[in-house]
Amino acid sequence: MMLALLLARAGVDVTVLEKHADFLRDFRGDTIHPSTLELVEELGFLEELEQLPQQVVTRLRADVGGEWLTVADLSALHGRHRSIHMMPQWDFLELLARKAAESPTFHLETCAEVVDLWKDGRRTVGVVYRKDGETRRLRADLTVACDGRGSILRDRIGARPVDLGAPMDVLWFRVPRLDSDPDEPFGIIRPGRMLVLIDRGSYWQAGYLIPKGDRERVRDSGLERFRALLAEMAPFLGDGRLDAIESWDQVRMLSVQVNQLMRWFYPGLLFLGDAAHAMSPIGGVGINLALQDAVAAADVLIEPLRAHRVRTVDLARVQARRWYPAALTQAVQLVIQRRVIRRVLGGVVVRPPFWLPRILALRPVKAAVARTLGFGIRPEHWRRAREAAAAS
Ligand SMILES: Cc1cc2nc3c(=O)[nH]c(=O)nc-3n(C[C@H](O)[C@H](O)[C@H](O)COP(=O)(O)OP(=O)(O)OC[C@H]3O[C@@H](n4cnc5c(N)ncnc54)[C@H](O)[C@@H]3O)c2cc1C
Repeated sequence: MMLALLLARAGVDVTVLEKHADFLRDFRGDTIHPSTLELVEELGFLEELEQLPQQVVTRLRADVGGEWLTVADLSALHGRHRSIHMMPQWDFLELLARKAAESPTFHLETCAEVVDLWKDGRRTVGVVYRKDGETRRLRADLTVACDGRGSILRDRIGARPVDLGAPMDVLWFRVPRLDSDPDEPFGIIRPGRMLVLIDRGSYWQAGYLIPKGDRERVRDSGLERFRALLAEMAPFLGDGRLDAIESWDQVRMLSVQVNQLMRWFYPGLLFLGDAAHAMSPIGGVGINLALQDAVAAADVLIEPLRAHRVRTVDLARVQARRWYPAALTQAVQLVIQRRVIRRVLGGVVVRPPFWLPRILALRPVKAAVARTLGFGIRPEHWRRAREAAAAS
């Protein structure tokens, strides 16, 4: 949607095919990082974004075996954007779609499920999709596969991402929240268990980490036991409100994947976002990286698209710009997965070494952590001047 918005603003004819009727889904991550806030400001609709319901978070803390650790403090950042905004992804997508629709060259087709690539020899010249029970074709100078971690277009071209491994899956569910509860998101780490609680106003969006593939074992032990485990970890939830989890249908599993395609491009076809590189949920950076890919792709491809001459080398330039921010971020996530999550879920008693809180509280360290989390590696920018130049 971000790529479509940028291309449409530059006068490129663009069609987004979305298989669902709308963007309303289960929880899929809520994090809008400072890099995205800066980007939205550059695009001129920050005020509209700020009007949407959201929670503003400046600190990320964890209770590690009874000791509180401030993992990141975004107030150490310089500049206007010094917080993470937690907002349901559907609200953000709807805003992007609304802004994109201001350009006459933007088209959004919902209930349109892409089922295959349309090929002419080795080159992709569009897609085959299903809508209203009919099979249709859409021809395009460039097909961008932003179809997520289960990308069907990846299968159709025969590309397989390199699996970097993840020791955990995450069970996501909601728990009612009271005004007297803590008012910031936090994690709780106990031997064998990890719980993340994200403040969503009237409810907590909760994520319970389990060893990969353990869902059936957790389910077999029963809901009663599950609720008891949660109340043991977060005693303030043990006032009866966990009864709101009435069935396992309310507990959705995210099968965590960390992977990357060796090659993001083929003649006439480009993979971006999760389809090119599924991220671990650590740091909640998947949305922001997908957005940064979109900005880089628009920057590189606007001119070739306007000339109706997209060469494979142009697509290679997009990958050259974006693969290493994704790979380096994944490398950090893999270290945290191995050194912390795998050990915790394996039952090891993890305690932060006595020097860690002191090191994390040092000003330069605090700023470096905040910058890495808030802006990531190689944040992309969309200057108004660039937009004006592209539109002229
Ligand atoms: C439970 C969960 C929690 C997460 N938490 C976070 C978080 O806190 N922070 C964070 O940054 N990231 C989080 N993520 C990851 C984040 O959602 C993704 O990294 C991000 O959405 C990737 O964007 P994308 O556009 O590449 O893919 P997606 O957001 O997956 O979008 C793919 C789109 O393509 C559509 N589609 C798929 N196949 C087809 C088809 N054949 N035809 C037409 N349309 C199709 C889908 O309906 C979807 O709208 C979470 C993910 C999950 C599942």
